[in-house]
Amino acid sequence: MNSEEIYNLSDSHVMQTYRRYPLALVRGRGMKVWDADGREYLDFLAGIAVCNLGHCHPLVTHAIAEQAKTLMHVSNLYYIEPQAQLAAMLTEKSFAQRAFFCNSGAEANEAAIKLARRYAREIRGIEAAEIITMHQSFHGRTLATLSATGQEKIQTGYQPLLAGFRYVPFGDPGEVAKAVNKNTCAVMVEPIQGEGGVIVPASGYLRELRRICDDYNLLLILDEVQCGMGRSGRLFAYQHDGIEPDVMTLAKALGAGFPIGAMLASNDAARVFGAGSHASTFGGNPLACSAAIAALNAIDTDDVLSNCKKMGEYLRQQLDKLKENHKCIIDIRGLGLMIGVELAAPISEVIRRCQKKGILVGPAGEKTLRLTPPLIVTQPDIDRLIEVLNEVLP
Ligand SMILES: *Cc1c(COP(=O)(O)O)cnc(C)c1O
Repeated sequence: MNSEEIYNLSDSHVMQTYRRYPLALVRGRGMKVWDADGREYLDFLAGIAVCNLGHCHPLVTHAIAEQAKTLMHVSNLYYIEPQAQLAAMLTEKSFAQRAFFCNSGAEANEAAIKLARRYAREIRGIEAAEIITMHQSFHGRTLATLSATGQEKIQTGYQPLLAGFRYVPFGDPGEVAKAVNKNTCAVMVEPIQGEGGVIVPASGYLRELRRICDDYNLLLILDEVQCGMGRSGRLFAYQHDGIEPDVMTLAKALGAGFPIGAMLASNDAARVFGAGSHASTFGGNPLACSAAIAALNAIDTDDVLSNCKKMGEYLRQQLDKLKENHKCIIDIRGLGLMIGVELAAPISEVIRRCQKKGILVGPAGEKTLRLTPPLIVTQPDIDRLIEVLNEVLP
């Protein structure tokens, strides 16, 4: 099919939940993707921070192909070798001792919310548990996770929301301390807000939250669905702050493009998830876990993580230079290769013009360009991005 045919077929039959750019990508390799009419693009969005190894990384592709030929699915009624191996790897590389697997970020956060409520009831004897979350946060689109999300536009039309969330401004530990009451059981926060506009809190924020959680006996739940898996320059973003959470959720880049989510927890938190307490048919199936094992092996290397740091710094430098000639750039934020460029005007036209010049960038809110390239991005790739931005920005 050519692009036009794909648009028409999709517009006629797919639910109209997405506002799509007129672009149908059919093939990818590393930093590059091609559309159905054969045009080439450099991908600075990477499927919204999913393809951290670029498109079709050979190790991940090979692992999926091999596992697909061997065993795809058996259910959690049985032991699953790749699931056990992936859990061992993730816990070895993080604060956690146990992992629960699911299929998306929302499901991982759903699991974290359920764990926190059960912990509140069983360990602390709280009947109506409350979780503190942040303004402008994003935790997913299920009813529980959109209720946890501190953005009205995500919640509109779905009231009544799930009770038990209290929202405070992001980045201010004092507001969290003020919001704690006898029913509070957890604080749930993105170490770097993604959908809210790529917002990095002042250093020390997570340390303060950890202290508050210790003082009031609360679980600290970190949503690393977007900022995890090397995106920040460390495997997990919390590792920049020298603290450990009680619970952490992962998804997006966990399978380097294959759908998988995980909720990791300390032994202390995980003990309330006994047999029958939570489940997922597909969660942790052999195919998804084999993809994630290959992805984790490839991402957690000095090469990839140091490239992420180096290229992140280079990109920030180049953007700072660009800012001098383009007054429409108001702010440049980020860590590693999770970067937001806030503009004075809406960004949709800039995104379209970049696409026409062969560069894919995304939005994070109304006025922020999101740059989340594969962690294998090179200096020439970044130079090309800057060249194009220089041409399209007013
Ligand atoms: C994308 C995202 C989610 C939701 O993940 P889905 O896989 O779309 O359900 C949750 N939290 C954060 C921080 C995200 O970026």
